[in-house]
Amino acid sequence: MFIFFNKDISEEFINRNKEILHKFDFIDFNFGENKCGIYIVGNISTEDIKENLFGVEKILSINTPYKFVSREFKNEDTIIEIGDFKIGGGHFQKIGGPCSFENEEMFREIALTLKGFGVNIIRGGAFKPRTSPYFFQGIGENALKSMKKITEDLGLKLVSEIVSTEYIDLFNEYADIIQIGTRNMQNYELLKKLGKLKKPILLKRGLSATFEEFLLSAEYIVSNGNPNVILCERGIRTFEKITRNTLDISIVPTVKKFSHLPIIIDPSHASGSYDLVEPLALAGVSAGCDGVMVEVHNKPECALSDGFQSIKFERFEKLSSKIDKIREVLF
Ligand code: PEP
Ligand code: MN
Repeated sequence: MFIFFNKDISEEFINRNKEILHKFDFIDFNFGENKCGIYIVGNISTEDIKENLFGVEKILSINTPYKFVSREFKNEDTIIEIGDFKIGGGHFQKIGGPCSFENEEMFREIALTLKGFGVNIIRGGAFKPRTSPYFFQGIGENALKSMKKITEDLGLKLVSEIVSTEYIDLFNEYADIIQIGTRNMQNYELLKKLGKLKKPILLKRGLSATFEEFLLSAEYIVSNGNPNVILCERGIRTFEKITRNTLDISIVPTVKKFSHLPIIIDPSHASGSYDLVEPLALAGVSAGCDGVMVEVHNKPECALSDGFQSIKFERFEKLSSKIDKIREVLF
C-alpha cells in the first residue's frame, strides 16, 4: 500500500508519521521532487491510516508484485533524459556500436559513421561477460575511458555494460547509460547499488526470465531511488535453436500495458545473425518499442566478439530509414 502525503507536509509531520508506522513493516522512499510516499508491507487498514497519520492525501493499493514500475503507480510514460536526448513517451532512440571496444581507431570510425546516420547513443563493451573463459573478455577500464572520450568529443552518449559492483564508481563517471546484461539481471546486490545512482540504467531481460521477474528486477533499481530504467528485450532461451535466442515481441505491448518504463529491442543478441537483425528490429518497432540497440562493426568478419550478428554501415543506414518510415506510418 502506498501513502502519498500533501506536498507541503513538513519534515516534522513526516517523522511523526514514521514513528506511528514503526510498528508496521514499511519501506520509506522519495519519488520525485516533492511527492513523498511510504510503502507499507505489513497489515494496516486504510481507516487506520486516515485516522492516525497526518497530511494523508491519497492511499494507493497496487495489486501487482512490482509496485513503482507499474502503471497503477504512475500512469504517464516515463521519459528518460540522457543529456539532451530522450527515450520513452514517444521519444525513440537508435543505439548502435560494436559488441566490444577493440581499439580507438575502429571505435571512432564506427561512432563517427553512426553519428552521420543520426545516432545519438553509441554502445560498446569494455568488460565482456563471455560464456567461455577462453573467449575475449574485453579491454576493461581503459576501453571505457577511451569510449567516453571519443563519444564526448563527438557530442554522443555512451552505453556500456557493468559486470560487477566493484566498478560502480568507474561507470558512474565514464558511462552515460549503465547496461546490466542478461546474465546479471538477477544480481540483486548490483541492482540495489545502481538504484542509489541517478544515472540511466539499461536493464536487459535475463535468458529465462519471465515478464514478472524482469519487472521485479527493474523494481529493485527504482525502489532504491533510481527511476531512470530502460528495459531491453534481447531474446529469451526457448527450445528453438535456429536463432541464437527467441525475440519475445509480445513483451513490448505487455510492458506498455503494465508499466510506464520505456522498452527497447536488441535484435542482434536475439537473432545471432546479421541478416535477421533488420526484420526483428522492424517487428519491435511496429510493436511500439521505444528504441533499438544494434551491434554495428566496420569489419564484422574481424570482430573480437559477436561478429556474425554485427551489421555493416550500409545495412544500418537502410535499417535506420526503414525504422523512420514505419514510425511515420504507425505512430
Ligand atoms: C551485449 O550487449 O554485448 C551483451 C553481452 O548482451 P546480453 O547481456 O544481452 O547477452
Ligand atoms: Mn554482443
